[in-house]
Order: sequence, then C-alpha cells, then structure tokens
Amino acid sequence: MHYDVVIVGAGPAGIFTALEMIRKDSKKKILIIEKGAPVDKRHCPKEETKVCVNCKPYCHITTGFSGAGAFSDGKLSLSYEVGGDLPEMIGKNKAQDYIDYTDKIYLEFGADEHVEGLENTGAIKDIRKHAIQGGLKLVDCPIRHLGTEKAQEIYFKIQEYILEHGVEIRFHCKAKDLLIEDNKVKAVEFEDMKTKEQMTVSADDIVIAAGRKGADWLKSLCTKHDINHRAGTVDIGVRVEVRNEVMEEVNNVLYESKLIGYVEPYRDKVRTFCQNPGGFVSQENYDNDLAVVNGHSYKERKSNNTNLAILSSHNFCAPFNQPIEYGKKVSELVNMLGNGKILVQRYGDILNGKRTWDKELSRSNVEPSLVDAVAGDLTAAIPYRPMTNILNFIAALDSVVPGFASPETLLYGPEVKFYSNKIILDEHFETSVKNLYCLGDSSGWTRGLMMASLMGVIMGQHLS
Ligand SMILES: Cc1cc2nc3c(=O)[nH]c(=O)nc-3n(C[C@H](O)[C@H](O)[C@H](O)COP(=O)(O)OP(=O)(O)OC[C@H]3O[C@@H](n4cnc5c(N)ncnc54)[C@H](O)[C@@H]3O)c2cc1C
Repeated sequence: MHYDVVIVGAGPAGIFTALEMIRKDSKKKILIIEKGAPVDKRHCPKEETKVCVNCKPYCHITTGFSGAGAFSDGKLSLSYEVGGDLPEMIGKNKAQDYIDYTDKIYLEFGADEHVEGLENTGAIKDIRKHAIQGGLKLVDCPIRHLGTEKAQEIYFKIQEYILEHGVEIRFHCKAKDLLIEDNKVKAVEFEDMKTKEQMTVSADDIVIAAGRKGADWLKSLCTKHDINHRAGTVDIGVRVEVRNEVMEEVNNVLYESKLIGYVEPYRDKVRTFCQNPGGFVSQENYDNDLAVVNGHSYKERKSNNTNLAILSSHNFCAPFNQPIEYGKKVSELVNMLGNGKILVQRYGDILNGKRTWDKELSRSNVEPSLVDAVAGDLTAAIPYRPMTNILNFIAALDSVVPGFASPETLLYGPEVKFYSNKIILDEHFETSVKNLYCLGDSSGWTRGLMMASLMGVIMGQHLS
C-alpha cells in the first residue's frame, strides 16, 4: 500500500490537513489512520451509567474522528494570544490571519455566527480594572462557542465531506512505529485493533497529529528514531466549580475570562483555562488508566454551575527534565487517594487544613456536577509549589469575581496537561527527519481547537 500522504490521528489538526488539501484541489492520495471510531459512532456510556466506566481499549471522549474536539466544549479562541506557542514560530500576524481563515471554514460547516466577548466594552474595562487590582492580566480573546452537541454535528459534516472527496480513513487502527531510512521517513506500521492484523503503509509524506494522548507514544518515537525534540512545560492544576450567580457578570460579558498571573512567592505562570458557564465537570481517562478532570458545556443543556481550570505551569532542567513523567506521578497520587476517581475538596477545607467529607458537600449552595467525584484531600497529593500557586491565584481572582474564594468553592483534581514534549520543527512543520511532519497538541506547539485546526490548514496548503 502506498499513499502520497499518510496522517496519523483524525483530531482537528489531522482532519484540517486533509480538508485543506481537498479545498486546494490537491489530487494526492491521502490516508488517515485513527485509533478510535467515526464521530457518529462515538459514545460515552456515562450518559446512562452516570459514572465513568473507564472504557477499553480507549476513552471515547478523547479518541476517534475529531479527537478531543468531539466532546469538547467547542470554544474556538479567536485570538493568537490563546491556544499555544505556534505564533512564536510563525509570527503573530500570520497566526491571526490563519485564525480568521480557519474560523471561516468552521462557519461554512455550520458554526454559530455569534462571537462572545466583542460587546460590552464598558463592562470589560471594569473587569480589567479589577484584574489589575488583583495583579492579574486579562487577555482579550473573542470566543466562538460551538457547544458540545453542535461541535459533533460540525465534525460529522467534515467527516462526510472528506470521505466523499476520496480521503481514506482506517478507523480502529493504531499507529505503532515508523520506518526511517537515511533520515527519511518511508512508512508507518500500524495495527488493526479489532483483528490484531499488523500492517505497513508507505508514503511520500507522513504527518503525526496524535494529540495530547499520543504525546507519550511520540516521545518514544523521538527517542528511538532520534527525532529532535526538547522537554517543554507541564501544567498542574485543578478544575474549580462555583454557582453561576458568582460568575454571572464575567460569564455574560466575556463568556470565557482568560486571566494570567505570576503570583507570589514563586512567580510561576498561573492561568485560567476552559471556562464553562452552566457547564459540567467531566472525567477523561488516559489509556494507562489515569483519570483526569476536564469540563465542558452544552449549547442548550445547562447546569447551575460554572467551571474553569486553574493551571500552574512548570519547567524543569538538570538533573530532571521529564515533565510528562512528573505530571503523571502527580495524577497517580491524586487518583490513588480518590480510589481511581476524581477527587473533590472545598476551598475552605483546604484553608482549614482538613479533608472534605461527602456529607459536607451537600451543605453547600454549589452541588458537584461531577457526581462520582470522591470527597477527599487534594493537598495530600498535589505538591506544595503548584498547590500554593493555585490557592494564591484563587485569592487574587476574588478581586475580579467576588465570591470566587468562598469556603464552598469546589476544587477537583487532577487537571494535568501533558503537552509537554516539544518537537523541533521548521517553518513547514517538518521534523529533523525528512518528510516527517508533526502537528497539533502532540507537537507541543498547540493546546486548543483553533490552533490545532489552523496548524492543519497550513500543513494542508504546504502538502497540496
Ligand atoms: C473535555 C475536553 C474539552 C476541551 N474543550 C476545549 C475547548 O472548548 N476549546 C479548545 O480550544 N480546546 C478544548 N479542548 C482541547 C482540544 O480538544 C485539543 O486541543 C484539540 O482537540 C487538539 O487537536 P489535535 O488534533 O492536536 O489532537 P486530538 O484532538 O487529541 O486528536 C488526536 C487524534 O489522534 C488519535 N491518535 C492518537 N494516537 C494515535 C495512534 N498511535 N494511532 C492512531 N491514532 C492515534 C486519537 O485517537 C485522536 O483522535 C478540550 C479537550 C477536552 C478533552
């Protein structure tokens, strides 16, 4: 089997590569290898069971056509300042131009015309004033909110479109290794996960777009095949949940507040991420059984709560520089205390030096939207430095959102982002191995739907 282009991973980065090649009238023969199912066959059983059943061989929330995008909140960040470090590589102006271009593609496939965060300039000024008083920076970022259910519809249309235009997709197939000769990539070895058949496809160009969950696999390829990379950042954090009433002003004015602080005493970067007004806290499982927390919101179905992540960024140098391993160990510890489930603790209990008990959760105004989270003690598992950063950031945020640092505010953990291995790429996203490209979250250069998608668009134009 030989193809012009083989793409590993049908997340936004991979599918926008194929989509843009079609839009540019490329006649190249394209194959996508995807571990999971078509988007219309993806189903998280938690809808019925109410608890995570840790699906095998993979979690449907993150795996399958449209990757982690399918069950995401579908918030497209329309500013180059949000979503990763790609602008450092390609320049701010080019990044912004491609965001606008990629946004139009989402609109063509049915995204909502409305953009949050463009109106109410007076109210935004007020929020910024309070952010300054709290020592935080408010990043301007208009948001196009697809919503989880709408995101699935849009990605389904894209799936059908690229299939109709002759792109082949091998679902339930897991890429395992690359064949490289004289520093040039030749082929991908993969396994059909249903039949266990082992196969090899050769290609002129091979694109790895395996997402955050593929980051570990990609790191092993880098080590084995000497692909240039460097250790990046790991984000250790928690998902915070409060009543909608507390966040009402920020939700109405901005929908999502992107706040950054370098809080004392460490002055590490701490930021808010993925805010979900009326949303639900969710669990995702990595293939190695790690349970990590996340959050999303539907366009129609709403809860009484707003959740958002608070993430503390950490870099390492000698003698230890394995941020992915560090993040995993922290998550494992939190999972151990939660007996494999997500832990939840009240902010007030943390300040009072005690764990939270189940019965105490029911006394609060805020009811946990992740019903199978286990009440416990995050401070016994999250290291002192990130925990101090998170607590001091919450205190600072209280000046922007009064009531945010209330004793009943819920903290869920672990929320850890494993996009830490950064692949060294040239301006065409080519790695140090010829004709081997790397995109999206697995490359370490993006951390969001829009940036991953536009990296795919740029790749598609180059390969057309
Ligand atoms: C619950 C949740 C909510 C989110 N909400 C938002 C949001 O609102 N806004 C936002 O901007 N971002 C959000 N994100 C992040 C966003 O989804 C990701 O940044 C984005 O999907 C990254 O795209 P990608 O193509 O790089 O990787 P992914 O979307 O992760 O796709 C990678 C694909 O590669 C496949 N794969 C991996 N390894 C292999 C292999 N060896 N062989 C074959 N296939 C493989 C995977 O199955 C997957 O389908 C959210 C993420 C989650 C989990």
